[in-house]
Amino acid sequence: MWLNNILETIGNTPLIKLNKVAKELPCTVLAKVDYFNPGNSIKDRMALKMVEVAEQEGRLKPGGTIIEGTSGNTGMGLALAACVKGYKCIFVTTDKQSKEKADILKAVGAEVIVCPTNVLPEDPRSYYSVAKRLGKEVPNSVYMNQYDNLANRQAHYESTGPEIWQQTEGKITHLVCTAGTGGTITGTAMYLKEQNPNIKIWAIDVYGSLLTKYYRTGEIDMNQVHPYISEGFGEDFVPQNYDMSVIDYFEQVTDKDGAIMARRLAKEEGLFCGYSAGSCLQGLMQLKASLTPNDLVVCILHDHGSRYVGKIYNDQWMMERGFLEVKTFKDIVSGRI
Ligand code: PMP
Repeated sequence: MWLNNILETIGNTPLIKLNKVAKELPCTVLAKVDYFNPGNSIKDRMALKMVEVAEQEGRLKPGGTIIEGTSGNTGMGLALAACVKGYKCIFVTTDKQSKEKADILKAVGAEVIVCPTNVLPEDPRSYYSVAKRLGKEVPNSVYMNQYDNLANRQAHYESTGPEIWQQTEGKITHLVCTAGTGGTITGTAMYLKEQNPNIKIWAIDVYGSLLTKYYRTGEIDMNQVHPYISEGFGEDFVPQNYDMSVIDYFEQVTDKDGAIMARRLAKEEGLFCGYSAGSCLQGLMQLKASLTPNDLVVCILHDHGSRYVGKIYNDQWMMERGFLEVKTFKDIVSGRI
């Protein structure tokens, strides 16, 4: 038996019990390990959906060009869909992103345009402005805009949510998920709450993002916004993919705690995941007082650790940021590290 193309391997990812890192919690914790997708992240699901919806709406036509502001997971998913379906891809990214990320996207056939980081979004040189402009200027092109394109959350309503419901045989009590564009948490939660409105949905955010304060007060407080190191989640605006009414709580995690927890997931469970996976689990740990032995928690782990080998999985990088204690000769000799 064979599959017709790589896109048919998207979804149906495993749900795996955490045996060591979650020991201090009173309940069972399961990880939805979405690095099993072909592009190594959950974003393959929504990338394919955005392409399919654009095709159905007649916005994306044969030989067309897909345009998106992305450097990572969404770009990979879009590029895979484009390879199989015969579209071109132009991705606009910033010079803050590593060269490897652009090279990975080029390897799967995309063109990558690099824009300066330190300009305001409304500046014509910003990656946001350039992506939007290309969407207007390049003939037969579609600017996907994962933030406000509701096909993003629809993908999770149609796949991630039903998979989790079936894999837990309807026994899930809590969903824990990092929040960026809001697509994953909103779409998955919309489906799960339709099955059982008592399921608790906990969003995990990072310090420096305005989402948590917005959720709690309805206020867009730019004073909350400051640069952070964590990747893939947190925002400095509120994308249209959010429906805050399906979310029960927002918790914030520090850059350091998320990074340390990602390393624990890799070492203790063999789950070599990205930064946001560590943050997701760390957020859950911070909320452990709200859990009971009968709970069945599902954490979504968005992507694979290979994209972070030069960062959270690099001791030097961790030490430079004060996330890991500097090794001394005495530590090494005494076998402490
Ligand atoms: N983690 C990673 C690694 C991601 O790429 C994303 C997507 N930005 C998220 C978490 C957050 O998911 P979403 O955008 O669906 O809220």
